[in-house]
Amino acid sequence: MKVIREKFHNQLVTMPRLFPINCYLIKEQKFMTLIDCSKKGESRKIIDVIQSEGCPLKHIILTHAHSDHIGDVDKIKKVFPKAEIILSEKENQDLNHKERKLSPLPVQVDRLVKEGDYVGSLLVKETPGHTRGSISLIDLRTHFAFVGDLIQTKGGNAIAGDRRFIFPFPAMATQDKTAAIQSFEKISKDQYARYYCGHGSYLENNSEKIQRMIARGNAKIN
Ligand SMILES: [Zn+2]
Repeated sequence: MKVIREKFHNQLVTMPRLFPINCYLIKEQKFMTLIDCSKKGESRKIIDVIQSEGCPLKHIILTHAHSDHIGDVDKIKKVFPKAEIILSEKENQDLNHKERKLSPLPVQVDRLVKEGDYVGSLLVKETPGHTRGSISLIDLRTHFAFVGDLIQTKGGNAIAGDRRFIFPFPAMATQDKTAAIQSFEKISKDQYARYYCGHGSYLENNSEKIQRMIARGNAKIN
């Protein structure tokens, strides 16, 4: 696991070359928040990074309920029993929905969130598309957006549903391409400084690149 340390967060990357999966540890003054938990088998390394910061883990937010984001959330919760497990209201409603194919959570959800809620310094934005209940988290200190699988940058910049030959997996698991484009249009209007996603490095705020991603996405629908 590769760890990219920034002032306000660490980016934890599983299999950085072959099949990168990101999760993020948001560092606040007195506590930390984990966004996503990578895949199964990675919890020990994630726990080590959390413990190395020497600050209590207060929240674990899942951007959506797919196995490469849920990972071993139950094992992480066992080590940090005070950490609240947070999921969006809509994703929680869909956990038992047969056709939406979300992975069952191995742990009890402690708190449900919706658009406009706060988790520490993070503002919740509903960004449906990859799944109906997908959320993004905005760090208001840095203006960085953590968007889950709303976009990918591995294999080429793409909005969820726009399949990239080298890394087609997020597109294959996307529920609603049109909704994903609308969600990305919505949050990119706010011009966040960086967009951190589930697979690949961050996308900087570059309107040309963003417009190209939106055009590519639309071309694949029409
Ligand atoms: Zn993913």
